[in-house]
Amino acid sequence: MGRTCCRQANTDEYRLQPKVRTGPHLRSKCQRKCHARVSVPGSAPVDVWPGRPKMVEPVIALLLSAAVSLSPQALWDVWPSTRFVSTPAPCLKPAELYERLQALEAKHRARLKVEEAGRSFEGRPIHLMTVGTGPRKVLLWARMHGDEPSATPALLDLADHLLSRRDDPSARRILEAVTLLMVPMLNPDGAERYERRNAQGIDVNRDALNLATPEGRLLKTLRDRHRPVLGFNLHDQNRHTTVGDTGRLATIALLGVAGDARGTLTPGRRRARRACAAIAAALAPLLPAGGGISRYDEDWSPRAFGDNLTKWGTPVVLVESGGLPPGFGHAELTRLNFVGLLAALDGLARDDLAGHREQAYEALKRNTRGVRADVVVRGGRLHLPGREPFAADLAFDVLVPDQVRAGCAGASGRGSRLLEVGDARFLKAGRTVDAAGAVIVPGIEARVRGLAARSWLTAGALDAMARLGVVSVLWEVGPPDYAEAGRVTAELEADGRPPVRAVLERAGGEAGGAGLEVSAAPRNGAPTLGAALQALSADAPVSWSADGLPRRLAGGGRAFVPEARASFLVLRPSDGATDPLGMALDTVWIEGRPAPAR
Ligand SMILES: [Zn+2]
Repeated sequence: MGRTCCRQANTDEYRLQPKVRTGPHLRSKCQRKCHARVSVPGSAPVDVWPGRPKMVEPVIALLLSAAVSLSPQALWDVWPSTRFVSTPAPCLKPAELYERLQALEAKHRARLKVEEAGRSFEGRPIHLMTVGTGPRKVLLWARMHGDEPSATPALLDLADHLLSRRDDPSARRILEAVTLLMVPMLNPDGAERYERRNAQGIDVNRDALNLATPEGRLLKTLRDRHRPVLGFNLHDQNRHTTVGDTGRLATIALLGVAGDARGTLTPGRRRARRACAAIAAALAPLLPAGGGISRYDEDWSPRAFGDNLTKWGTPVVLVESGGLPPGFGHAELTRLNFVGLLAALDGLARDDLAGHREQAYEALKRNTRGVRADVVVRGGRLHLPGREPFAADLAFDVLVPDQVRAGCAGASGRGSRLLEVGDARFLKAGRTVDAAGAVIVPGIEARVRGLAARSWLTAGALDAMARLGVVSVLWEVGPPDYAEAGRVTAELEADGRPPVRAVLERAGGEAGGAGLEVSAAPRNGAPTLGAALQALSADAPVSWSADGLPRRLAGGGRAFVPEARASFLVLRPSDGATDPLGMALDTVWIEGRPAPAR
């Protein structure tokens, strides 16, 4: 179309212009600058790129595709191969973080300063990383809650990205416009234990007024010393929170934090809200269908740091990393922080985020709970021993600790939580299981006695027990054997396998003990639940209405109540059977996961 991109006289602006005759060298230099200008993260390319790529001449289209390397999508794409910290965020302990900070400082000597800004209650160093030389200061802090890890590595990745590309116009603009003050791990004692609170047992984010914690005092000191124009408070939220009533998981929640109970919109808070809009615009296209971006609860929280920093004059953006839709691993949360923060900083450096509208932030749906479950089993009938069966859906969440998900902890801590027993027709479901015509009963709890049982209590034996309807195992051992049994049980844990819990044997024996006593690995499968009980143990009950049966079942008579484990059996009636013992085992659910069929 005969247009090219050139710097405007005496300004820093680059525009598409009718093509002018220039030497090849001049033109390519000019185009290179323009392409950087039109494609910085979070920017809207159209303001300097009036046409669509297909309408421009091939060489510029080519440049535009190369230019995409600076877009949010390109930042997202480049992160896996260029990130500075490859350790998954939940696995990053204070000692390794310090090593990575030293390595980052060594790599960018003279351009990045790492200093010990303070110490935690237990004396662990808390480091401050300073990047950039600009007059406006921005304070970013992560892992104020020790079990909310996602943003910590993103801050190092971000610093390395900017400094490694400091000749790139967009990186240079950020480095020259702002000074980034970053505290990647404010609560190292909590991070060491993977606990929310600090070593005093205090929630640092409720200590802004008391300042009883050294971590809180450090944050206040940094704020008062540097008077940043913007703060980023980086957390993780409950991974089951949704975007309004959409049923989509709130993968990122944002808040332009209020500085008073009335939510007064000061110029600073408006900047924070525009920063939220910039982050949302950059991240929304990167999320899969089951995820989204929400707005965090706006209520004034008078003891919290975000609220008080805003009040003290540093408007705060709260970023909460949350739910993981299908196809998203935990690392994607760190990746989103990296892209989103760069987008906000780019906007801040460019024009104080003038290109982003607060209305886009206001339009975000609120964080919501109680409208979605990971799994809903619909249309079944619950049948408890000795009771009439009744219609009830089951809705539950499947719980996976971040450290397990990231591969730096064993399976322990996997769990489930029943959310609803009854009418769940209005609940959105991550997965729907059709149980129409099926009968749902509590699973079987097995009881195993003595440490000698470890000779047969293997993974294979547990899997065979699961196929017969066992959903949990109590292993009774004497006090001297308790520790050894605990070690064995931890090694046996796996998804869809009955968890084994070591318990101290009770004096007086088994008469009142819960569970169905099992003394050997089952050899055979079984066509019905009754046959399964028989295969597991000679003392199997003969009738579903037998008084002793509830003790053999997980949860006793209280298997189906909110907060209970989602461990149960789905039975398929055949030949008109009405007694569950005569029905075929269809699916064994253990802690919200179906046991493998074989
Ligand atoms: Zn938090």
